[in-house]
Amino acid sequence: MKPTVEIICPHCGKDTFLRREPIYEGFKKTGEELSCSACGGRFDSEEEVPFKSLAAVPKIFTDADRSKQVKIFDEGENQGNCRYCANYVINPFMQFCSLHKKEVQSTDSCARFELPTEKPADPLEGF
Ligand SMILES: [Zn+2]
Repeated sequence: MKPTVEIICPHCGKDTFLRREPIYEGFKKTGEELSCSACGGRFDSEEEVPFKSLAAVPKIFTDADRSKQVKIFDEGENQGNCRYCANYVINPFMQFCSLHKKEVQSTDSCARFELPTEKPADPLEGF
């Protein structure tokens, strides 16, 4: 699931969402087309996109802070994975969710994902 990105569109002036569609050349993904979900106005590049979240960021944040935030966002793909969740329990026989009391896979994702308070050793180490 992709996160919904809020933008303030300079084309139609609306508070709306970013539409991101992959551009394919044959079977190879060559890029992404970024446009406004309300009026269809295009943005030439990621830099052109008027992200609402960035507009709302107070000026006290430096560019360094901002790139740090972007990095967290990039790593977000792992965030929902059971493997990284505080409720993930592993033993030699199965992987288990202590919250839902059921067997899970390390690559499962879950809406109740919780970050462990302390970073444990990688549960799959040694396997
Ligand atoms: Zn628009």
